[in-house]
Amino acid sequence: MAQGHSIDEYLETIYFLAFPIGEYPVAGGSSPTLASRVAEMLRVSRASAGEMLKRLEREGLIERGEHKEALLTDTGRARAERVVRKHRIIERLLTDFMGYTAAEAHVHADALGDTFTEDMVERIDERLGHPERCPHGWPVDPDFEQEENKQLAPLAELEPGARATIVRLAEHDGDLLHWFYDEGLVPGREIEVRDAQPAAGQITVRLNGAERAIGEKAAAGLFVKPA
Ligand SMILES: [Zn+2]
Repeated sequence: MAQGHSIDEYLETIYFLAFPIGEYPVAGGSSPTLASRVAEMLRVSRASAGEMLKRLEREGLIERGEHKEALLTDTGRARAERVVRKHRIIERLLTDFMGYTAAEAHVHADALGDTFTEDMVERIDERLGHPERCPHGWPVDPDFEQEENKQLAPLAELEPGARATIVRLAEHDGDLLHWFYDEGLVPGREIEVRDAQPAAGQITVRLNGAERAIGEKAAAGLFVKPA
């Protein structure tokens, strides 16, 4: 969707920025930074994102912190957690029941997000056997997700020689998500950092017995558990 993102989509994005893994993706934490990051992730203008953040503030879903940074209120956090959980269950409905690929599931789940009531989502979850993760590795249970964040790091932060297992894939960039699957960079895959070339904006990894270069953007979106 190029325009007209719902409050829930904004909350989902803010949730992702509020519980980062490692340093990525929030660098400064100030309000302009948040609006910019939200704008970047939802591919809307900085002005549209700023307007929507004001609306979320008026509705009591976010508040300004000590340094004027935007923070989720308790109400906002609870709603954001319901939104991400729902999104992940619907993704599993799309892959497990409807036969979509993991790469396709994210965008379709965004489109379907507002279709199902909470009761419907609970019934889907039950029928799917209470899946633990979305197809891209993100836990369905937000408490577990936040706990697990402490054990993960973006691949980009690993030193040469480090080995790790891919656990989650950044999913807000549909093209990048497809690329991860095309390249076999999927949850459960083991990876070893061989060399970093920051000047060239890439790192070299060993994957499936072969060495290959991965760009910075992709390395920042692969969340791994160091061995
Ligand atoms: Zn997902």
